[in-house]
Amino acid sequence: MVAGTTIKLTQKESYNALLSGNRQWVAEQLKSDPDYFKKLSKGQNPEVLWIGCSDSRVPANQVTGTKPGEVFVHRNIATVCSHSDMNMLSVLDYAVNALKVKHVIVAGHYGCGGVAAALTHKQFGLIDNWLRHIKDVYRLHSHELDRITDEETKINRLVELNVIEQSYNLCKTTIIQNAWKERDDLEVHGWIVDIKTGLVKDLKVTSSGSKNLGYVYEVNSEAVAVH
Ligand SMILES: [Zn+2]
Repeated sequence: MVAGTTIKLTQKESYNALLSGNRQWVAEQLKSDPDYFKKLSKGQNPEVLWIGCSDSRVPANQVTGTKPGEVFVHRNIATVCSHSDMNMLSVLDYAVNALKVKHVIVAGHYGCGGVAAALTHKQFGLIDNWLRHIKDVYRLHSHELDRITDEETKINRLVELNVIEQSYNLCKTTIIQNAWKERDDLEVHGWIVDIKTGLVKDLKVTSSGSKNLGYVYEVNSEAVAVH
């Protein structure tokens, strides 16, 4: 595969490596189970939704030791869960209401470049609008973060606080709140992947009900027309 190799490949070689990697992967799967793809093509029944960072070093399946079909995935820069992001909301709605996943994992990672960029005062272009969500998290926790002088420690603490806030954002959605009214087997978790060790740190902020959301965010069961 291309990843991890130290040999500099040409444009064509790096592209062809992907295709040959695919053939190799297919052959390996068929070797251990000739019906592997036949079974996989019948449908998916994942119990987990992973919302993580787009960073190439934190792939949901590899990190959790799961196989294709076991994790529904949404990834974006710096693991942001914004209630105005139609992409994220559509994935969440489908995962929760159609696939009936039992676990929603919000997964950040130490050393996140998006979080680090949000800690600077530089302009990066369009992405600044996205990173503003991270700056908002900083503002909420500035009393703690302002006191951290070591840059790496500050980035990593903001990574943790961002996951906590984004998990909270998910819980505030009507998608999650309505699901909690219907069933008691849906949990929202906050995780950090430590790329230096590969290990996951459970932040122990798991939510399974709306009682601690804060009054202003609680919604009733019935939707009413707005006049
Ligand atoms: Zn990242």
